[in-house]
Amino acid sequence: MNEILQKPIHEVSKLIKEKKLSSVELTQAYLDRIEKIDTKVGSYLTVCRDLALGQAKAVDDRLSQGEVLGSLAGIPLGPKDIYLTKGIETTCASQILKGFIPPYNGTVIEKLLEQGAVILGKVNMDEFAMGSSTENSHFVKTRNPWDLDRVPGGSSGGSSAAVAADLCAASIGTDTGGSIRQPASLCGIVGLKPTYGRVSRYGVMAFASSLDQMGPMTKDVEDCAILMNHMAGYDAKDSTSLNVPVPDYTSFLGQSIKGLKIGVPKQYYGSAMQKEVNDSLQVALKKLEELGATIVDIDLPHTEYGLAAYYIIAPAEASSNLARYDGVRYGFRAEAKTLSEMYEKTKTAGFGPEVKRRIMLGTYVLSAGYYDAYYRKAQKVRTVILNDFREAFKLCDVMVTPTAPTTAFKIGEKSNDPVQMYLSDVCTIPVNLAGLPGMSIPCGFDEQKLPIGMQLIGKPLDEGSLIKVAHAFEQATDWHLKHPVL
Ligand code: GLN
Repeated sequence: MNEILQKPIHEVSKLIKEKKLSSVELTQAYLDRIEKIDTKVGSYLTVCRDLALGQAKAVDDRLSQGEVLGSLAGIPLGPKDIYLTKGIETTCASQILKGFIPPYNGTVIEKLLEQGAVILGKVNMDEFAMGSSTENSHFVKTRNPWDLDRVPGGSSGGSSAAVAADLCAASIGTDTGGSIRQPASLCGIVGLKPTYGRVSRYGVMAFASSLDQMGPMTKDVEDCAILMNHMAGYDAKDSTSLNVPVPDYTSFLGQSIKGLKIGVPKQYYGSAMQKEVNDSLQVALKKLEELGATIVDIDLPHTEYGLAAYYIIAPAEASSNLARYDGVRYGFRAEAKTLSEMYEKTKTAGFGPEVKRRIMLGTYVLSAGYYDAYYRKAQKVRTVILNDFREAFKLCDVMVTPTAPTTAFKIGEKSNDPVQMYLSDVCTIPVNLAGLPGMSIPCGFDEQKLPIGMQLIGKPLDEGSLIKVAHAFEQATDWHLKHPVL
């Protein structure tokens, strides 16, 4: 059975549809593995045993009555604990939401449930998605399945670890500055951050609303295309959702990349990157050339300002979004004699240090005397970065860069130095600032046998080209077939 748990959705789904495997059997096998292995990995915050088996049974019943169901029917998923799930505790890995049971499902969850997906439970993350290592979770530190002394990346580190360790068939994460791609890279899986507005944000806890996007985290590229088919699309409940047609993402699988122009921005390579990361990327670029693509050097001259602009804009938006967690409406409330004392005590005890740091930073940059100097300036930098991409995309179809400057680092290595931690996202943040689609796929291992990720960046709404290039690369390599031994 463990072999089946390693298989991607597109293979397992066939077995379920042909009734060679029931969803209940599959779900039970995942639940057993979670019980056995997750004590080591620490990827789940909540496991919904009965609910999952009930959902699986419902799919099996429908299939035995002859209903024709889609590729996600009966497939066990482990969504990040930032998605609202009706009746299932949803904490965003924060003490302040301990005990919060959402009364409704987020749009993406609703869509996946409609397809017959099974929810195994909710997986760990950095508190309110702030972090790059999942060490900022209030509840548990998730470990990297490739080396249990190392971080799985973040903030969707529960997702990347669970997928890599075969503790779910796939996960869905969120990405504000890299939180899908960087953990995907560190755990050797596939992660896609769609174009801003492509996937509904409704019913997903907001961190920085102008940057947040939801996306799939999967074992391979085909699974990513399948999940995207059911996640993407306009939602009247999200005012920033784009009302544009959604292609069939699986139609990009197996397409040739002959003649495709792949841009290589020099700012993303070189001495700031771990040597093996640079080296693997060079080998990957050669492979893409062999597959018929043309490599073009491009320039994104303002890349170095991305991180600074992000750490003004994201905290500013977070300080506003997180004001709602005041002890009145959701989850945890501290005992106090007066209302203002209750607010103070709830927030003091409810938020962790990184979240407090961001709220203070955000409040500061938005304050009357500093708004122009920091917030407005950062917004201008954001436009400059977007224009860099616009210019560069006149010369290429897709860009290729490392996803993260290093492979997985040791637990505790960066947790006392926020700036070092923030640097984990230098390659991914500009993509969020520009609202573009970005994807990470496995492209090698370093000397310590830790996975290396390759980032693909696309034009607005062109997730299709990313899937096309990623799939062509995946078909020509076997990095995605390697599994950690646990
Ligand atoms: N690591 C970045 C941060 O801490 C990005 C997080 C994210 O994408 N949610 O803000």
